[in-house]
Amino acid sequence: MAARKKIREAINVLFTYKEQDRFDLFAAFPSVKNFFLNRRNLFYIRSLGDISFTAIILMGLFGPQDASRNISLFLAWGIWWTGVVLSWFIVGKFWCGICPFPGIGRLLQKMNLSLNLEPSPFVRKYSLHFSVFLFAAIIWSESVTNMKNWPMGTSFLLLSILLGATILGAIYKGQAWCRHLCPLGKIIGAAATISMIELRPDHGKCKTCKTFSCKKGSDDAPGCPVYLGAFNIRNNVDCLMCGRCVSLCDKDSPSLRLRNPFVELILNKGRYITCSYIIPFLMGSQLARFVQHAAWYRRAETALFDSNTITFTFLLALGFGLFILIQKAGATLFGITEDPSFGKFSPMVPVLVPLAFTGELVYRLDYFLANAGDLIPTFGRQFGINLEGLYVSVPRPVIYWICLLSLSMGTASSAYVLHIFNTRDFEGVIEKKRYYALHGLVLLLFTTYAVLFGNYIAS
Ligand code: SF4
Ligand code: SF4
Ligand code: SF4
Repeated sequence: MAARKKIREAINVLFTYKEQDRFDLFAAFPSVKNFFLNRRNLFYIRSLGDISFTAIILMGLFGPQDASRNISLFLAWGIWWTGVVLSWFIVGKFWCGICPFPGIGRLLQKMNLSLNLEPSPFVRKYSLHFSVFLFAAIIWSESVTNMKNWPMGTSFLLLSILLGATILGAIYKGQAWCRHLCPLGKIIGAAATISMIELRPDHGKCKTCKTFSCKKGSDDAPGCPVYLGAFNIRNNVDCLMCGRCVSLCDKDSPSLRLRNPFVELILNKGRYITCSYIIPFLMGSQLARFVQHAAWYRRAETALFDSNTITFTFLLALGFGLFILIQKAGATLFGITEDPSFGKFSPMVPVLVPLAFTGELVYRLDYFLANAGDLIPTFGRQFGINLEGLYVSVPRPVIYWICLLSLSMGTASSAYVLHIFNTRDFEGVIEKKRYYALHGLVLLLFTTYAVLFGNYIAS
């Protein structure tokens, strides 16, 4: 009976938009809290991650370079990255809590082999631009090198992230790479703003705190790896959800909570600078990626020196520019971009976020569903065992409809954000015809995505 009540409460919080309503998962399910309190749990998961990533990297570097005979590709792009993308919507940045990339840097710090410096003002000031640039470089190189079919390239990509995290771990204290530079962390953080889970402190308890051990650590345990501490968490962008502060705090302040997935998005109204860059780039890159197999893309390629690199780079830049314009045009149409109580904001960012991240999800899901049935036969080919009989094919129409359904949910979410703006935060402020025009813009974007993705999947 009590369990049913808890589930009812949780569902209520999840599906009703109330800014302040939260469902405390630690209070309702103590086993969830125990999971974070027992640091060994995360250690075991991380160790599993270390072993898996080492295997992927080694297979990519030294295994067959024929995509149909190397499972490292599907493990990296199909299982790992699709899994991370899917996890954004549910557990937010939880991947960062178990990510193996900062492992060697942490080890160097434990062995006193790190300079242990504070991140410089230069790093703090320019890191966002650099990490967006790195993210752009990943998307660009993934497409122009056809990395999903290039095992060694995939290993190089993973090694470059590992190298970045290790070098910064050897220079700076904590996980400076994760806080300031990691391109994956930035996109996961931006996506986590629509997650249904958050880790937050009880500010009442933190007010009387004298130790701030969640940030500083204790004699036998280091503090927050990204220099936040639970009392500083205001959003899902920077916190890694590693749960270290849960075990460090002696006042039982941090808790994991379920929430309506729109509350953070709507509350912040596009004021995170990370999202203002990431969203137009992500959407622009999706358009460029979806048209890569179109007949006219081939013609454009012929016209542009027969170079996929030049054509894709051109389209990527065009897509980015187009979505910057859409973001600005949408804000103009919205009619208000400054509020006396919270200053300047960017209203189109929260409207576009759900569509942008479901766009990414369908791109990844397509790869996962199209290749999942070939995993076992690929394993057989790689290790000389005949497993061809175990091949399973997912029909393309099934993939298309699953992806279209996901895109429709993203579009409905974008429309819902507009609805909340119009009925709550900016009630009576947005002119009716402008409000409908904004819905028209969202619908136009959905149609564009659906058509381009339909062509992409059919090619
Ligand atoms: S920020 Fe990057 S390196 Fe750090 S934990 Fe997240 S994905 Fe891993
Ligand atoms: S989370 Fe705990 S340790 Fe951190 S400031 Fe609050 S009460 Fe203090
Ligand atoms: S605030 Fe807590 S959960 Fe977030 S990164 Fe810091 S220690 Fe980890």
